[in-house]
Amino acid sequence: MAHHTLKTLDYSVLQQCMHCGMCLPTCPTYDTTKRERNSPRGRISLMRAIADGELEVNDTFADEMSYCLGCLACQTACPAGVNYAELFETARADIERSGVKAAPGRGLWRTITLRFLFMRPDALRLAGTLMRVYQRSGLESLVRRLGLIRLAPAALRKLEPQAPRIAPAFSNRLIREHEMPGTNTRYRVAMLTGCIQDLVFPDVNRDTVDVLLANGCRVFTPPEQPCCGSLHAHNGETALAAKLARRMIDLFPPDEFDAIITNAGGCGSHLRHYSGLLDDDPHYADLAHAWDAKVKDIQEWLVEIGCRTPLAGPFAGPATITYHESCHLAHGQKITKQPRSLLRLLPDTTLVELPESTWCCGSAGVYAITQPEQADLLLKRKTDNIRSTPSTIVATANPGCQLQIARGLKNDGAAGIDVVHPMTLLAKAYRRERGPDAAPPT
Ligand code: SF4
Ligand code: SF4
Repeated sequence: MAHHTLKTLDYSVLQQCMHCGMCLPTCPTYDTTKRERNSPRGRISLMRAIADGELEVNDTFADEMSYCLGCLACQTACPAGVNYAELFETARADIERSGVKAAPGRGLWRTITLRFLFMRPDALRLAGTLMRVYQRSGLESLVRRLGLIRLAPAALRKLEPQAPRIAPAFSNRLIREHEMPGTNTRYRVAMLTGCIQDLVFPDVNRDTVDVLLANGCRVFTPPEQPCCGSLHAHNGETALAAKLARRMIDLFPPDEFDAIITNAGGCGSHLRHYSGLLDDDPHYADLAHAWDAKVKDIQEWLVEIGCRTPLAGPFAGPATITYHESCHLAHGQKITKQPRSLLRLLPDTTLVELPESTWCCGSAGVYAITQPEQADLLLKRKTDNIRSTPSTIVATANPGCQLQIARGLKNDGAAGIDVVHPMTLLAKAYRRERGPDAAPPT
């Protein structure tokens, strides 16, 4: 896919769609509007018109592709095997190249985020630290009280109230570079700490490492890691995504590990397709194939190696848990059974199915900022479904979903329901084996 446009993309990918419409009922935007244009089939027709030279990349096309969640529910439903993920990323890259959405504010915002912050892990952590100071020093409430946020650029204004709470210490302070299991080492793995996971949920990274250690894995976690590039690829910055892929491969040579572990559904879905980004790079093409084969979602890996059943439950008493599927885990990576089988290992808990568990929660990267109405609609549907179950715990394996659903439940006033990563539950259970008050082994 390296640097392809819709016009240069292998035409068979576009031709694969046989217009059967099986994907339509699974598409959240089509479900809302019932308009063909807002469906996967409609979007593929528009892309094909561009490839055929019948249509130019214009504002309407850009808006349509921005309305698409990229949730890939259509890809799961499609009997013809249409690679919607590839089409979607190529279309977004075409839109960026065409400049139809270029505007001074947007350009600056993209430069700050995609070209600077998410290219420099130290700068991203510094921005996170500054954000935390802003959130904790009373400055945030002052700015809100005085209405000063009105003076900020539009993108920042929309982002500010939704900005997640930044953690006091990031993964590099919680996890040592090399950690050894207490028992025999069965495997050697690398641990990817992610961007949002690192800034907002570094405890989930710690929990993941604890679970790996409890399962005989020796864990390598470099304190500073590049971004995986998924944000760049989803936003049409293919060259930057390729650059980040090379940096990742340099830091984690695939032949040194049994697995390269990610615990974020959104990252995993991108991470295991580096070969598509680097297939015309003579030095990295083979390495990228080896890399793709080694990338494992933590849940997939644990099931593959036979996860040890914890001897204690995660909580002092029994609990009912339900599971929300991250789109990029379920549709992007087809990982649906493994998280459930791990949750079923937890003593003293009951797993109940969430109605419409694979329906997108509306998080989808920056979607909640670019398409707030549709995002809120999806979020309400998700929290209504959650509240229809007797669960007090929602497990989900993607930081975007975790933040979005927690925000939705808070808005609904459903304070008694926690949203957690499955690794947090497993880690809690392993810790409780050593007694109810055992501290994390740091
Ligand atoms: S990715 Fe999701 S929103 Fe986009 S067309 Fe497919 S199902 Fe619809
Ligand atoms: S299900 Fe697949 S083949 Fe059928 S209309 Fe949708 S994308 Fe095309």
